[in-house]
Amino acid sequence: MTACIGDSGKTDTINTDTVNLIAELIPDAPELSITQVYHDALHFMLNGERVLVILLDGWGFEMFRHFEDKQPFLSGLSPQPALSVYPPLTPVALASIVTGVQPDIHGIHSRSDRRMNEGVVDIFAAAYNLGHTVAYVQGFSNIIETSLMPVLSPDTDGLYGTDNEVFENAKRNIDVDFLFVHFHGIDDEAHTYGPYADEVGARMALIDEYVRYLVENWGDGKIIITADHGLRRVYDDPNRLANHYGISREEMIVPYVIISSNSYNENATFLVTSGDAAYIVSMEDLLFIGVTDVSSSPRGVQREFTGVPLVNIFNHLNIDYSTAGTVIFTSGDGFMSAVSINEAINGINTFIVFEENGELLGTMEDGGRGPFMVVIALDQFPNRWARYLTEVKIQ
Ligand SMILES: [Zn+2]
Repeated sequence: MTACIGDSGKTDTINTDTVNLIAELIPDAPELSITQVYHDALHFMLNGERVLVILLDGWGFEMFRHFEDKQPFLSGLSPQPALSVYPPLTPVALASIVTGVQPDIHGIHSRSDRRMNEGVVDIFAAAYNLGHTVAYVQGFSNIIETSLMPVLSPDTDGLYGTDNEVFENAKRNIDVDFLFVHFHGIDDEAHTYGPYADEVGARMALIDEYVRYLVENWGDGKIIITADHGLRRVYDDPNRLANHYGISREEMIVPYVIISSNSYNENATFLVTSGDAAYIVSMEDLLFIGVTDVSSSPRGVQREFTGVPLVNIFNHLNIDYSTAGTVIFTSGDGFMSAVSINEAINGINTFIVFEENGELLGTMEDGGRGPFMVVIALDQFPNRWARYLTEVKIQ
């Protein structure tokens, strides 16, 4: 998975007086605009690629930077700054994101405008016309009229606003060719507690997990992640600690990232055997158990992997290893290596990994080392690291 920006080579060509004014008012305003979502998504779809767009309401660039440690996944993608549209309100910006044009063209200028100008084509119609299957997941309302009715996600459990419901509906629709998902919680928390409050950081951490899951389960294609606007602190409104309707860096600049995703082969598996019992463990199982970053420095060279501690897999399978002595790894090329059960169940030592530096390990056929590999993180030399893992035998 690699992060890159706008390889469509196309930019928003509508250069209105408002855009010039904003650029003048915000020193070093980014050239990249959130209108680029439409152009990038269309470009990728014209290339026959699937596209996932994730819109994080109120995820300002300043707020993102302030809470980078709460968003390990999104931070790792190194988003670029992009300019919102004026006024930086959700309906106005959403219309620009889904149509690729400035408000003077699409006609949504305020919180109460719902209907875009006639003749303006949105990304849902464009995707549909290309023969793609399409889904649009929203919070509790549609916000503006679009060519496709959104799947609405009201807060049914009183938890995390609509975010957990949006996440569930996104998962349900993850097989379509074009999926647009709008999470609202960062904006809601920022209005209530202020843009830099702990509550905002906590919600960003939750959404970071949701985004990670969606990205890791998207399969082949492209993923665009951005926001409609940021928020700035307000001091004159007793009911709100933050707002967004003016021209400031905090309100107008948002993160923008494009990810090229190689698919996780969810059918990739290896075997775990213990006595007479054998369990098939898939990529999907590992994602379900929960992946973690793994650092190891064999031969003094630091390497970064993504995987699952072996002991978490044993626990997930309810394997009783209390009387076991050894764990043997077998590779697809005939290699075998052994570790003691104590080494194997050390949660900071023995991992089943499937990515190095964010890239899938690949397979033996394509010259890779995976799809699964054993990393024994505390080993000084990688001699026991089993590539092309086929079996973990507990005995
Ligand atoms: Zn808002």
